[in-house]
Amino acid sequence: MGSAAAIKQCADIVIRHAKSENIIAVVSAMQGVTDILVQSVEQAAAGEGRHFKNNAEVLRRRHFETVAGLNLRDPGIEIKRAIEENIVEFVTLCHAVHVLGEVTPRALDAVVALGERMSVHLLAAAICQSGQQSVAVDSGDFLITDDHFQHANPDFIMAKKKALQKLLPLLKKNIIPVVTGFIGKTKDNVTTTLGRGGSDYSAAIIGNILNSKKVTIWTDVTGVMSTDPRIDATARTIPRLIYREVAELAYFGAKVLHPKCIRPALENGAELRVKNTFAPDEAGTEIVPDMQQPPGTIRAVTSIPNLSLITIAGTGMLGIPGVAARAFAATAKSKTNILMISQASSEQSICFLVKEKKAERVIALLKLEFAQELKNRDIDAITSTTEVVIITAVGAGMQYTPGVAGQVFSVLGKNKINVIAIAQGSSECSISFVVSMEDEKKAVHCIHSLTQN
Ligand code: ASP
Ligand code: MG
Repeated sequence: MGSAAAIKQCADIVIRHAKSENIIAVVSAMQGVTDILVQSVEQAAAGEGRHFKNNAEVLRRRHFETVAGLNLRDPGIEIKRAIEENIVEFVTLCHAVHVLGEVTPRALDAVVALGERMSVHLLAAAICQSGQQSVAVDSGDFLITDDHFQHANPDFIMAKKKALQKLLPLLKKNIIPVVTGFIGKTKDNVTTTLGRGGSDYSAAIIGNILNSKKVTIWTDVTGVMSTDPRIDATARTIPRLIYREVAELAYFGAKVLHPKCIRPALENGAELRVKNTFAPDEAGTEIVPDMQQPPGTIRAVTSIPNLSLITIAGTGMLGIPGVAARAFAATAKSKTNILMISQASSEQSICFLVKEKKAERVIALLKLEFAQELKNRDIDAITSTTEVVIITAVGAGMQYTPGVAGQVFSVLGKNKINVIAIAQGSSECSISFVVSMEDEKKAVHCIHSLTQN
């Protein structure tokens, strides 16, 4: 949903499929809009009184220009009014947050949900434009969730009951519902969201509760790729992936589909595909529960750059229980996500990876936590190695297959790439290792040359 042209393209796809199937379209916000909403409310909470007002203007212009770009037969007055209502709400909410000087997860959800509440009208209008009936539907009307704001969990039973009432009558009348992704409501009618990138999850939930035959995630790349094409131009679309492989890939930064969407989509035996809006005839990637594959196959490789490796080292750490727990608790205090952990069985050191910009704060907190141990020299040093990257090789076929790690590390060795740390999840679906940023490209190339699809 990046531009009027992209929305028209989405409408074409919907209409084409609607000729032979019942379609429900689930939309995300226009590209970048959710980020603007998040920033606005955060800035308002931090005491900035002007930022959100400027952004209201940015959002209005962006959506109104898109309405204009759709060249609607009627001048789009209704849609503009609906969008304007959301913008007024945006300003009101940001203003309240600004006055209070803080933002709760609940208020944040109320604001970020507005992106989808605006975009939904655009696609519905684009579909109507070509003579097919369509209406915008607020998923808050049926997608009941708990009150974990920012990461709400659907109540499948309640949602099903309400979705059947709301959506089936539309489908029966041949009206295509265009539904807001990402958002729900508690049973007390308070807006929630399912987590960033959650519109895929919404589609899967709706597919699940309506027993759909297909859930297709339309994005701007052709399915899930064997690596990032910007790093390795020989990257290919992977035709089929299994559930567990996607989970590993999604976690390690391949942002094509939300990991939570897989289970509800596949549970009822639906076909789950990731396809490219701009190349709709390409098959994309199919996600299946399981499949036979040659032992030892590496399917894809990902990298997460701009990380720091934090190391806590000391001969006195041996056998002291709780060092890891205390280290992670101290790290959690700085609201830092740990991306990988590795500890050797000698227990002389423990290391983990965090985003580079968090490293300084984490080290400070660790030094505070372990002040006594540092003084006693049980811990010799708490240090960070900056400019490192995690490279991950993914493939369910690596499970139970000896020699894959050997293959991975010998190709790195042959190419003179120094490996700083290693970790393998016990699912054996992936092997991760850390190299310096300057080796990122070369390491991705090396591992990618081992992939098979
Ligand atoms: N608009 C939401 C986000 O940016 C949900 C989504 O795009 O899937 O996170
Ligand atoms: Mg997405």
